[in-house]
Amino acid sequence: MSLFDELRIDRTPGEPVAIKAEYRVRARRQAWLYAVLIALLASGGILNHYRPEFLKPIWARVVAIAIMLVWFGLQLRNWRCPGCNMYFGKRRIKSQCPGCRVQLED
Ligand SMILES: [Zn+2]
Repeated sequence: MSLFDELRIDRTPGEPVAIKAEYRVRARRQAWLYAVLIALLASGGILNHYRPEFLKPIWARVVAIAIMLVWFGLQLRNWRCPGCNMYFGKRRIKSQCPGCRVQLED
């Protein structure tokens, strides 16, 4: 077997059923991440309205920024194609990966 054949085998996409199952898990996780984000923003807004003094100290802002960074990091790790690991960003995925064209949904 030549080196070229080995490389070609390495590039073969994984089992389509496993990719669809993994995509479903990631899509559900992504929905939860957005639900948590909305809850965080809403509680931040409520806090800012009723207890603005709570958000005044610098540590409160540092904590808020840290939470947003953690959220973004989780999102960055999660919202990727199970086949080619391409980051989907804000795109809404309609059944097919825009990178490797693998079928993600039925
Ligand atoms: Zn892909």
